[in-house]
Amino acid sequence: MIAQLRVSRIAPAAMNPQWNGQFSCFDLVVKTSKCSRSVVRVRDIEIGGNDFIVMAGPCAVESERQLLQTAEAVAEAGARILRGGAYKPRSSPYSFQGLGVAGLKILRKAREATGLAIVTEVMCKEDVDLIADYADIMQVGTRSMENYSLLEALGPCGRPVLLKRGMTATLEDLLRSAQVIAMAGNPEIILCERGIRTFETATRNTLDIAAVPLLKTVSHLPVIVDPSHAAGVACLVPVLARAAAVVGADGLLVEVHPHPEQALSDGEQSLTFREFRDMMDDLQPYLALREEARQLRPQLLAAGGAN
Ligand code: PEP
Ligand code: MN
Repeated sequence: MIAQLRVSRIAPAAMNPQWNGQFSCFDLVVKTSKCSRSVVRVRDIEIGGNDFIVMAGPCAVESERQLLQTAEAVAEAGARILRGGAYKPRSSPYSFQGLGVAGLKILRKAREATGLAIVTEVMCKEDVDLIADYADIMQVGTRSMENYSLLEALGPCGRPVLLKRGMTATLEDLLRSAQVIAMAGNPEIILCERGIRTFETATRNTLDIAAVPLLKTVSHLPVIVDPSHAAGVACLVPVLARAAAVVGADGLLVEVHPHPEQALSDGEQSLTFREFRDMMDDLQPYLALREEARQLRPQLLAAGGAN
């Protein structure tokens, strides 16, 4: 039984001296004696606090019906934030590119109907003000992680930024981009591990699970995991979500669609409502373990961690 697992056997990640040298130049985002943990607040939601925050919804906003149905289903299952792209960076220029402003308006309706906060992607600096008008969190996608003019434009936008790791980016690259946003005046940053390109082709990307404890050790920023883009297939999403919970992630970003087989983008990796509910139920014992670990944290730190 999972409930019988003893948290006290889990050793904390200790600070590797190499990381100090590697990351210390990113002074606004690395842990210091003054700032060991930052919490990003979105309305009444705390990301990086004690709760495990699930952000869920379709890859792309396709219609009012699709988004409202999904918003209601994910809210009922325990998600706190609704995801959905209105502007979509796609692997093929012939693929659906998103509904644009019409999609943003649908997101706003879903927020009014369900009370969920909204996270949606911004692809270029020219769209920052427009999207900040509709979004509670500005998502920077994997393809934009090193778009420095976009990162700088997010400095004064007044909204937290969800920064996804570039698919070929090292953790140093990711923290450099976070530092650029912080230097531009926005300290409200959430890091997201979403899988990286490796020689493996059986999954869409390779979930770098070690990135989570490493980032939590060197940085004070919240870290969430996107198991959907990492896996590329729905059947692996729940188990990767569990892994994220037990390695100390602060939450998840998960794709959910009323009819994944009809989705205009990323249907293969999208969960049905039922699958999402089951995933949320199955996460419960792992979240209890996470909570136990959190409460034991002072002893764990004393046992050897310098994080
Ligand atoms: C997304 O979240 O829909 C998305 C496009 O993700 P990524 O940038 O990680 O590919
Ligand atoms: Mn997607």
